Amino acid sequence: MHFETELVHSGRAIDPATGALVSPIHLSTTFERGVDGSYPHGYVYGRSGNPNRQMLETALAKLELGCDAAVFGSGSAATFTLLQALRAGDHVVAPQNVYFGIQEILAKILAPWGLQYTLVDTTDLAAVAAAIQANTRLILVETPSNPQLAVTDIQAVADLAHQANAYLACDSTIPSPVLQQPLEHGADFVIHATTKYLAGHSDVIGGAVITKDPNPLFDQLRLIQGVGGAIPSPFDCWLTLRGLSTLALRVQAQSQSALTLAQWLANHPAIDRVLYPGLADHPGHSIAQRQMTGGYGGVLSILVSGGQAAALAVTAKTQLFVRATSFGGPHSTLEHRASIEAPGSQTPVNLLRLSIGLEHPQDLMADLDQALRG
Ligand SMILES: *Cc1c(COP(=O)(O)O)cnc(C)c1O
Repeated sequence: MHFETELVHSGRAIDPATGALVSPIHLSTTFERGVDGSYPHGYVYGRSGNPNRQMLETALAKLELGCDAAVFGSGSAATFTLLQALRAGDHVVAPQNVYFGIQEILAKILAPWGLQYTLVDTTDLAAVAAAIQANTRLILVETPSNPQLAVTDIQAVADLAHQANAYLACDSTIPSPVLQQPLEHGADFVIHATTKYLAGHSDVIGGAVITKDPNPLFDQLRLIQGVGGAIPSPFDCWLTLRGLSTLALRVQAQSQSALTLAQWLANHPAIDRVLYPGLADHPGHSIAQRQMTGGYGGVLSILVSGGQAAALAVTAKTQLFVRATSFGGPHSTLEHRASIEAPGSQTPVNLLRLSIGLEHPQDLMADLDQALRG
């Protein structure tokens, strides 16, 4: 079956009780046991399992070509849980510009519990190889990365991980499975902040980990999901599953508009540089061409000439682009990243991250042009 068809049908079934095409939202926290004490429907209690969560996990596993998926109450909880599934004394290699929340989790929560880690530029394969230790169990990459849009060669890092008996997890939030399927390129796990493109409407926070094969790390993650309880609500799962139906159309449109804008911005006099993997001068362009299909995503960053003050002035003048964090929704947004990230962030102070929404690209261009001209 084609991907677009899976997006509409995976995980869903006509409701057997009512014939409803759209599944009901199962709010019940508890499920009746059989007379023999068994659980005839497979559900026990809403923390450990829920029909809406099950549907979403089934759909996500299918879309990422994995064997199983676990969803969480946020993208951060998804990565946090994968890291928690490791043990004290294990070592993780993570990107030096990893999503800043994950950097805080590593430094302030898990390092005091005994998890060791090294942050490296994962686009530099020699640096990744040098960071691997005898106790390395997991390598984490994010490609294209947020907000610098750096591209990591998934297959090459997977080979390094597997030579060291470690797993590779790829945060694929920016491309979504429409444009990149990391399990096809050697990754063992895919991570999503479903908050972004998968749910797609800026109205639900969530996350997911999809595993390629059954393995002890995923078993431990599943245990933590059920007993630790960082779970999404049934309505969160329902909204995210609804978002999946239109994922391909949304991402293709947003990605096409982003390329149009990136090419136009690259020649704009008020801009020093555009960071977008779809541009031929991007250092990761040829790797992106190899491991992404159908586009380069709806997120791009610009380095505004004139430094931080000039960048902030642009955000003050846009009319359509909303000054707001996050990406992947129908509204175009822009954000000065350095001022929201934790101290020590590597993000240039004149960088603005743009999330291209579903508006007409000519309207977006006109808005940016008037804001950049001041
Ligand atoms: C947003 C984001 C996260 C965190 O997701 P939340 O749902 O906000 O917790 C993690 N990784 C990437 C790449 C993201 O863009």
